[in-house]
Amino acid sequence: MRYSGFRLIKEALTGHTGWTPVWRDASPQPRYDIVIIGGGGHGLATAYYLAKEFGQKRVAVLEKAWVGGGNVGRNTTIIRSNYLLDGNEPFYEFSLKLWEGLEQDLNYNAMISQRGILNLIHSDAQRDAFIRRGNAMILNGADAELLSVAQIRARYPFLNFDNARFPIKGGLAQHRAGTARHDAVAWGYARGADSCGVDIIQNCEVTGFRIEDGQCRGVETTRGFIAADKVGCAVAGSSGRLMAKAEMRLPIESHVLQAFVSEGLKPVMPGVITFGAGHFYCSQSDKGGLVFGGDIDGYNSYAQRGNLDMVEDVCEAGMALMPALGRARLLRMWGGIVDMSMDGSPIIDRTHIDGLYFNGGWCYGGFKATPASGYAFAHLLATDSPHPTAAAYRFDRFEKGRMIDERGAGAQPNLH
Ligand SMILES: Cc1cc2nc3c(=O)[nH]c(=O)nc-3n(C[C@H](O)[C@H](O)[C@H](O)COP(=O)(O)OP(=O)(O)OC[C@H]3O[C@@H](n4cnc5c(N)ncnc54)[C@H](O)[C@@H]3O)c2cc1C
Repeated sequence: MRYSGFRLIKEALTGHTGWTPVWRDASPQPRYDIVIIGGGGHGLATAYYLAKEFGQKRVAVLEKAWVGGGNVGRNTTIIRSNYLLDGNEPFYEFSLKLWEGLEQDLNYNAMISQRGILNLIHSDAQRDAFIRRGNAMILNGADAELLSVAQIRARYPFLNFDNARFPIKGGLAQHRAGTARHDAVAWGYARGADSCGVDIIQNCEVTGFRIEDGQCRGVETTRGFIAADKVGCAVAGSSGRLMAKAEMRLPIESHVLQAFVSEGLKPVMPGVITFGAGHFYCSQSDKGGLVFGGDIDGYNSYAQRGNLDMVEDVCEAGMALMPALGRARLLRMWGGIVDMSMDGSPIIDRTHIDGLYFNGGWCYGGFKATPASGYAFAHLLATDSPHPTAAAYRFDRFEKGRMIDERGAGAQPNLH
């Protein structure tokens, strides 16, 4: 079913009896050409592009729980391409360009809003670093603009410009960045993939791989064995646990990342802002809640809930930036499991096992990567060669020392 204004009017006049389910509830078939493990944003986008762009007809997505229940439905919804390094910026700019046409491509309203992001500057050294970043973005075809204090004050008058420790000295803006309704992205890709013939199988946990003579023949699941010529893993925070079943140890640690939403307020925050003297990022949802987050909880975990010390840490950073935040009540908070790689950048690569492919290490930032990650992983699975924008996301960069250390934090996941 195609969605349109006419369809809406027709359904409104006929008692809304014509709507059909957004995707089929498929049962597992004994064999597929390609099986994707993980029904998050990346797995569903991969399946969609495999079917639509690469003509793959026998594809299944296996999801242990329900579509949208993982990080794709738990993030703070920020999309942007304000990266510095060559290995990253072309990939994230490719992703932002896909975001820009995504709703038309999927015929699905994902509430993509290019309301802009502003990275605040609090020191002269930080200004130098952000000018460099802005130039790198422009060289890669992205947009970037350095804003003065007066320009920022006009847009965000409630920020604490004269904070004695962290005065605001300017900001780097990317006007094409913004937000998207996170779970609608999962639903839109699921609907798109399903309409191209992909089987989306929920409540189907992969419990093991069948590997014979160095070749992956398929997956063991809670709904039986499923044979496949190729298996792509896209399980984000569960990457370590899943790949251990293939006896692989990844350069990835799993940590909890929490998100917070305040009570609904009148419009106060027109775009996304990030604090440059701590880890705090904030936007306002269309319902009025301030949506914000900060650092990961500093211990390894597979639990989808965080602890109170990080609540205090994030709220302190928020208060340093915008003291009025203290007057708003916190309505809800939740945690997701993020797959922190050792250099803060992702991996989209073949494994040493034939027919087994991996996509993970997305850290805090995989939501904005969803379209490009899906496209690049589909490219790899279909052609056995990396997509040009994702060519640096290889496993062997850790062995060869070709890290893509965007933050310059070294091999310390808790700092990325
Ligand atoms: C609180 C929070 C805020 C964030 N904010 C942002 C942000 O503002 N911007 C941004 O770009 N990124 C953000 N991120 C990161 C982003 O959400 C993730 O990097 C991205 O969603 C991960 O990819 P995914 O959508 O495929 O993951 P998921 O949605 O987690 O999908 C993985 C799926 O795999 C399934 N699975 C796991 N094991 C198995 C198995 N054995 N068998 C079958 N299925 C399995 C899981 O159930 C899950 O549904 C945030 C993350 C969190 C937690």
